[in-house]
Amino acid sequence: MIVIDGSHGEGGGQVLRTALALSLATGQPFRIENIRAKRSRPGLMRQHLTAVEAACAIGNAECEELEIGTSALTFRPGAVTPGDYRFAVGTAGSTSLVLQTILLPLALAGGPSSLVLEGGTHNIHAPPFDFIERTYLPLIERMGPRVTARLDRYGFAPAGGGRIEVEIEPARALQPLDLIERGERQEVGARALVAALPGEIAARELEAAEKVLGWSLGGESIRKLPDRAGPGNILLLEAQFEHVTEVVSGFGKLGVSAQTVGEQAAKRMAGYIASNAFAGPYLADQLLLPMALAGGGSFTTVKPSLHARTAAGVIEMFLPLSISFVEQEDKRHLVSVRSA
Ligand code: ATP
Repeated sequence: MIVIDGSHGEGGGQVLRTALALSLATGQPFRIENIRAKRSRPGLMRQHLTAVEAACAIGNAECEELEIGTSALTFRPGAVTPGDYRFAVGTAGSTSLVLQTILLPLALAGGPSSLVLEGGTHNIHAPPFDFIERTYLPLIERMGPRVTARLDRYGFAPAGGGRIEVEIEPARALQPLDLIERGERQEVGARALVAALPGEIAARELEAAEKVLGWSLGGESIRKLPDRAGPGNILLLEAQFEHVTEVVSGFGKLGVSAQTVGEQAAKRMAGYIASNAFAGPYLADQLLLPMALAGGGSFTTVKPSLHARTAAGVIEMFLPLSISFVEQEDKRHLVSVRSA
């Protein structure tokens, strides 16, 4: 039995989600202890509980009684069964992170699946829906499966109430990819979303971002959502290159000025653009799992995060692969997934 120390490395929910996805896709059971030990409220939160429940449901796994705060569990998967599923986080917990757990096992299953996921769609410390749709899924599609995601309703913390639908046409196997050059820049854009908050916040975020990036965005970048979705605010900056689209987000927070939100997001986008790397830091976190399930692949990125290195450690426990992170002369980092 594979035994994982959940306090290792980043020590957050990613360790659990990565292990669940690998377990489902490879059929190997595992035990995890010290779940999310490095978080201020360790153990399973609603979003993680939903991810485990979703993994149990699609993988016909024997599941123990779990509750909020549970710090250890054993997961024994059966066969992954494609089909129609609905999973509701029940709070504003991130739907993207539940998706991250079950998408790839279903994308390798024996038939199509339809998912409805309810909860948050634009959560701080999680991929916003736009990142999943614009940055992550096009690359998964390049590996073979067909995946379309639709946002039905926005969900911000603390209100929740968001809903996404995902259609998955599986592939027999994932195609290994080498994602080294991102190609020429094509278009840039931005959207600032506000729900039950003044539109002026969005305008100030966009103005601050425009100044840092030298982009000219125009007023149509402001999007006012229905009040019932709020309060909520996010700035989404997008840079489309020939081979990849990067979405950088800035989350509005009480006590942080709109100008600061705009400037900080824009500086992160400027850093990505200047780096010449294929993957930004969050995409790098997400790419290791599909590459591992493809049996190999590589990509260039900015400085790899502790998340990515931690995910690499979990992958190496499940699969005979070796993952290397090598800084290049041009400061990009080359991440390679190869047979061990
Ligand atoms: P928490 O401790 O807040 O409950 P968690 O422990 O469940 O979170 P983490 O381990 O911190 O989760 O993982 C968060 C995931 O979200 C990582 O895969 C990270 O790459 C991704 N992520 C965070 N912020 C963004 C963002 N702005 N854009 C895209 N992806 C993001």
